[in-house]
Amino acid sequence: MLVVEPHDTSTPWDLAIVGAGAAGLATAIFVARRLPAWRVVLLDGAVRPGAKILVSGGGRCNVTNRVVQTSDYNGGSPHVIRRALAAFTVDQTLAFFREIGVALHEEPRGKMFPDSNSARTVLDALLAEVSRRGVRLLAGYRVTAVAKEAVAAQTADRAGRFRLETTHGALSADRVVLATGGLSLPKTGSDGAGYGFAQALGHSLVPPTPALDPLVLEGAFHAPLAGVSHEAALTVHVDGQRPVRRRGPLLWTHFGVSGPVALDVSRFVNRASVEGRSASVTLSCLPEANFEAAEQAFLHVAATQPRATLRSALANLPSALATQPCAPVESGGCAPQLPARLTHALLTVAGVDGHVTLAQLARDHRRRLLQALLAWPLPVVGSRGYKYAEVTAGGVPLDEVDARLHSRCCPGLYLVGEILDVDGRIGGFNFQWAWSGAWALANGLAQEQGGS
Ligand SMILES: Cc1cc2nc3c(=O)[nH]c(=O)nc-3n(C[C@H](O)[C@H](O)[C@H](O)COP(=O)(O)OP(=O)(O)OC[C@H]3O[C@@H](n4cnc5c(N)ncnc54)[C@H](O)[C@@H]3O)c2cc1C
Repeated sequence: MLVVEPHDTSTPWDLAIVGAGAAGLATAIFVARRLPAWRVVLLDGAVRPGAKILVSGGGRCNVTNRVVQTSDYNGGSPHVIRRALAAFTVDQTLAFFREIGVALHEEPRGKMFPDSNSARTVLDALLAEVSRRGVRLLAGYRVTAVAKEAVAAQTADRAGRFRLETTHGALSADRVVLATGGLSLPKTGSDGAGYGFAQALGHSLVPPTPALDPLVLEGAFHAPLAGVSHEAALTVHVDGQRPVRRRGPLLWTHFGVSGPVALDVSRFVNRASVEGRSASVTLSCLPEANFEAAEQAFLHVAATQPRATLRSALANLPSALATQPCAPVESGGCAPQLPARLTHALLTVAGVDGHVTLAQLARDHRRRLLQALLAWPLPVVGSRGYKYAEVTAGGVPLDEVDARLHSRCCPGLYLVGEILDVDGRIGGFNFQWAWSGAWALANGLAQEQGGS
């Protein structure tokens, strides 16, 4: 158990890091490794920091992804994202975790998890390294204000020191890192306080919204589908913008839809809402097919099995599609059958009787059904909110920091992790943003100090 200890307020710290989540812990380690003579303090409001790491990846912590690219992220300047990711690559991340005793393995879709399959291993290793490197962790110290000290109190350092007010007294530091996260899962301690600190020090804010958040659907039509999961593609159509299409597993729930593909598109729905644009979402239950390919497969089944009922032909359409000469390359990833509850819902949406045989099926009914199958308009009313969101979209704009994540608005201030206007898709990309940003920041500080 971490103990809240009194601290020496008289000597300023070289660096104070606010927030001991993934980004703050990694920053503390990398700075302490690069600048071992520095006095580094890491403050967190939680008595036991790292709660978000513990719940991540279903308690297993998806530490990173085998392949991480700038295009896996949304938000501000891709240039800053690219520079940070290049500064600390996936291979360096794997090596770092190996060094601190966490072996990782790869799972489907490139996701990297600890061999222990326990997020606790990741958190404990990070905390142990923080302690080994001599970083002072002040757990249970909530920072309530960050300000530049009055000019009279400044030292020879042109930039001036920072004064941090905490729930256990004040301290001063030559430099401050804000690693306070965003607004997602506020019970873990990230409640947006860091945005206020950044704004008080001259930054602006891209309005935050929940991201990687399940979608809420209007009405009760989806209730009978709760628990059904299948491969899907969701397309978000926002006024005046190019449609965004994402593919992956979808899970129907009592409130709407969840699963990776729903989480991935939620940020686009929420960004549209905060920007006052209207958004609509369509679902394809045959993500690899277009209308022509699906219709061809349907006609082929109708020609070879005219007495099959529509209901069974519909359920088997994915495998029929896969055997078509024009079958798309990716169709092998598709489940051989659509779940029965899903086909029932599709027939209801299309207003077509599933008991008719394929020989009896009218052309306009076939086309209505294919339309529902490939572009079912989902009545999305929003997402579940920060209590359920894995990350926050929006935050401190990336054009207000340089490639070392040094503030362009306030000398001596740095920002890292989710507080910045960056959100990754699901699959380990958000942690990679934290690790890479932490390294870019620490490396930049070391170079400023004349290190290599
Ligand atoms: C349920 C869930 C599952 C997730 N799973 C994954 C996953 O498997 N892979 C992945 O890549 N990403 C995952 N994420 C996202 C990932 O956890 C975040 O992107 C990442 O933790 C952000 O790190 P951070 O350090 O920037 O912020 P946070 O982890 O939010 O840490 C911020 C810290 O700052 C502290 N703090 C805030 N304000 C103050 C203050 N005023 N004073 C002192 N301390 C303060 C907080 O207590 C907190 O400890 C998941 C998120 C959730 C919610």
